[in-house]
Amino acid sequence: MDHYDIAVIGSGPGGYVAAIRSAQLGYKTVIIEKYDTLGGTCTNVGCIPTKALLDSTHHYAEAQHKFKEHGINLEEVKLDFLQMYRRKSDVVSKNTAGLDFLMNKNKITRLKGTAGFINNTTIRVINETEVKTITAKHYIIATGSKPSTIPGVEIDKKRIITSTEALSLKEKPESMAIIGGGVIGVEMASIFNRIGTKVTILEYADHLIAAMDNELGKTLQKILKKEGIDIRLNQAVYKVENSGSTANAFFKDKNGTEESLEADYILVAVGRSPYIKGLGLENTDVELDSRGFIKVNENNQTSVSTIYAIGDVIGGAMLAHKAEEEGVYVVETINGQKRHIHYNRIPSVVYTWPEVASVGYTEEELKKNNIAYNIGKFPFSASARARASMDMDGFAKVLVDPKYGEVLGVHIIGARAADLIAQGVIAQEYEVTAEDMFRISYAHPTYSETLKEAYLIASGQGAVNI
Ligand code: FAD
Ligand code: NAD
Repeated sequence: MDHYDIAVIGSGPGGYVAAIRSAQLGYKTVIIEKYDTLGGTCTNVGCIPTKALLDSTHHYAEAQHKFKEHGINLEEVKLDFLQMYRRKSDVVSKNTAGLDFLMNKNKITRLKGTAGFINNTTIRVINETEVKTITAKHYIIATGSKPSTIPGVEIDKKRIITSTEALSLKEKPESMAIIGGGVIGVEMASIFNRIGTKVTILEYADHLIAAMDNELGKTLQKILKKEGIDIRLNQAVYKVENSGSTANAFFKDKNGTEESLEADYILVAVGRSPYIKGLGLENTDVELDSRGFIKVNENNQTSVSTIYAIGDVIGGAMLAHKAEEEGVYVVETINGQKRHIHYNRIPSVVYTWPEVASVGYTEEELKKNNIAYNIGKFPFSASARARASMDMDGFAKVLVDPKYGEVLGVHIIGARAADLIAQGVIAQEYEVTAEDMFRISYAHPTYSETLKEAYLIASGQGAVNI
């Protein structure tokens, strides 16, 4: 029986980062993954393939709708759907190969198979050809999540699909209804709408990306609508049916008015649930909460002190970089280091175009908690950089403490918001003031200047630039 210092179960961004940090700190480390490739949801069927398709379809849309104004006349812009998907798979393969390289470089033992606890201290790893029993001083569970569904909606992976199946379609769908206008819903809607699929979003709430500052969802809604996506808010889907060559979604609004919609595919994007199948937690003292997430304390320890859990399987924000932070945090905690994760300073990004990005408190949260704030808001339409690139939709908004100028929240919808948000994270992590943020130099012309102007406005000064 092999013995390790740290055994990591699951190789998503939580697991692979934990394993690498563990090896860097000199621990004898094993990572166990049930699939052939490392990288988990994010690398194989999440962050990476969706961003590859979002980039490809963005170029396609730009070529169709913006090139002419730039003075570029193409005879005909044609979509090669299979090539677009092949490139996406190639991007994924390059990333999984990079992870193989990192595991070898750091001398991490890699086992392929499903890891299941047989008691609090021992696991069994089972694959098609062998069964291995191993022990470790510390275990880190990083088994991630799987798509959820709602009553009346059975995912058959044929016509009623999730983001995973949408990433391996063989031809462009003519129509698609997406249940859920959350992050997956709007990213998938963008991909397919841009290539000419007739897309309808059916969302229960009264605005899109409901977890973010409301103004972001409302602005995104207008932009996506302008691009041709049919957005149906306040609609509860209660049944879907596969009718062979198409599928039907049945839904009703808040007054009980019922409707149905037929589409080639119904894509279910109503959230994700913790994945613990095959993990054998019933053989341990590890406890789950009422929603099935693994319960952990402030050190990410489960009810068994030598078994830790990180990432999607413990809930909170289901984000790759949140899982990564926890992976490093747990290993450094085992190592005796005193670390802390500020969950409120973990940014969220939606990769529509324009992108949406957020960190810190939303306006709604500040109001609910009776926290006073000043707003500084600056539109991209007034940015010289945005005008040059024809990306004038959106705004940068900062929420600032009126007394001390502390930055409480940064919310951006606009070109390259995903990258701009990093400076909002720094502002909050190091508790600098809005004045600190506008007194530093911003290169001109850049999209980042919208933030400088927003900080100036929140501090009671007028905008100075265009
Ligand atoms: P996962 O990545 O889910 O990895 C868990 C791994 O554990 C899997 O490989 C699984 O096979 C393995 N496993 C499970 N049980 C066992 C077992 N018993 N034995 C061995 N192996 C096991 N987040 C972002 O931050 N940015 C994005 O742009 C983004 N885009 C996304 C797009 C989509 C379509 C989806 C679905 C998600 C996206 N996410 C994004 C979320 C992100 O993918 C997850 O938050 C992240 O993958 C969670 O990492 P994790 O390590 O907790 O688990
Ligand atoms: P989500 O929680 O973001 O959105 C689900 C949406 O479905 C909600 O708006 C909800 O109101 C709606 N809904 C629920 N029941 C409904 C019903 N009966 N009828 C109509 N609408 C209904 O979940 P998601 O979009 O599935 O994403 C899952 C997770 O993956 C998220 O936690 C997200 O953080 C992560 N993710 C992140 C990124 C990113 O960081 N860019 C991208 C994709 C996914």
